[in-house]
Amino acid sequence: MGECIVSRLEGKVALVTGAARGIGRGIALRLPADGADVILNDRDHLDEAEALAEQLRAQGRRALVHMADVSDRSAVEALVTHGVLTFGHLDLAVANAGISIREPILEAQWANVERTLAVTQFGVFHTCQLAARQMAQQPINGRARGKIVMIGSIHEEQPAPTSAAYNMAKAAINHLARTMAAELAGMHINVNVVNPGWIDTPGERQHASEEALTAGGKRIPWGRLGVPEDIGHVVAFLASDEADYITGATLRVDGGFMLGLHLPE
Ligand code: NDP
Repeated sequence: MGECIVSRLEGKVALVTGAARGIGRGIALRLPADGADVILNDRDHLDEAEALAEQLRAQGRRALVHMADVSDRSAVEALVTHGVLTFGHLDLAVANAGISIREPILEAQWANVERTLAVTQFGVFHTCQLAARQMAQQPINGRARGKIVMIGSIHEEQPAPTSAAYNMAKAAINHLARTMAAELAGMHINVNVVNPGWIDTPGERQHASEEALTAGGKRIPWGRLGVPEDIGHVVAFLASDEADYITGATLRVDGGFMLGLHLPE
């Protein structure tokens, strides 16, 4: 008997910001595996975004690359418009792009605080509000009019030192998600957050050596760092019809990080 393959996102169009690398790439690989066509956004890794798009097209999916800095509202407007003109509708928006310029609070440069907030908080606002405006005009596709997933962080709750602006932004987007979810539930637009723990990505490797990452992974209760696929699977679930009754929720995907790190023996 042949294997039953469930393409639970067949006919759905997903936008992923910051999709060329790291967690965004993991999400952008996973959603088409479930049948979605994708709009791949990144700021300046055009070659990597195009290579990813080619890989997805070879698997039979449609993929559009649109470079934009999510902190630039008019650029996000153009991104959403281009996606909708190309595919006709937008069923899922994943606001993943985020940065952290790490500095101790007493030394934090205001320009760096503003830049972190511009991308990690306001960029998420632009992406989600403009996507929601588009979704609000669409008929229901499947069982929802549209779904929005924000990529937050465990540092919404756990105050990582040297990351004040980042932690503020992650706390803010979690409450933005709850507010949007409350306003949009009646329209059947879901808004949820995934808070990853410590995930092995190019961005994280700018801050930590291989040795630090290996040692850090051992201290996480699950015994390893997360990988982008761990987040991709959860976003695919939230995007599916099975998750229709979940809105305004935060899912922690951290291998137990927030339960407490294992202390060295
Ligand atoms: P990476 O830096 O590995 O990948 C992020 C991608 O987004 C990069 O290609 C980056 O480009 C791009 N990007 C950055 N700024 C913008 C922008 N303004 N507009 C469009 N694209 C942009 O990061 P991660 O994959 O680690 O992080 C992704 C998300 O996950 C972030 O929101 C982060 O806060 C969150 N997260 C990550 C964790 C981790 O441990 N890795 C833990 C918890 C949350 P460029 O290289 O040019 O900056």
